[in-house]
Amino acid sequence: MSSEKLKFECIPCKASGIYSGRCEPEGVGVICTRCKGEGYEELSADEVVSYNKPFVEKKIRGDIILVEFRMQYEEFVKLPQH
Ligand SMILES: [Zn+2]
Repeated sequence: MSSEKLKFECIPCKASGIYSGRCEPEGVGVICTRCKGEGYEELSADEVVSYNKPFVEKKIRGDIILVEFRMQYEEFVKLPQH
């Protein structure tokens, strides 16, 4: 089995890297936590499902005017290693 990974469009942010959901006011997006704002995720052949589309380029959203960085709580609570 090949472990080679290919880039596919990130689904929650629709390859834009910016996620805007019900929690976000109009015009405000947050950096997509799934792809970390890259707009794609790398999947190996056995992870790909039928609705994954090959990633070509990051999509530009016309509806976003402000990007708010929201830290993952997991990252927030990660304490320095001693
Ligand atoms: Zn994303």
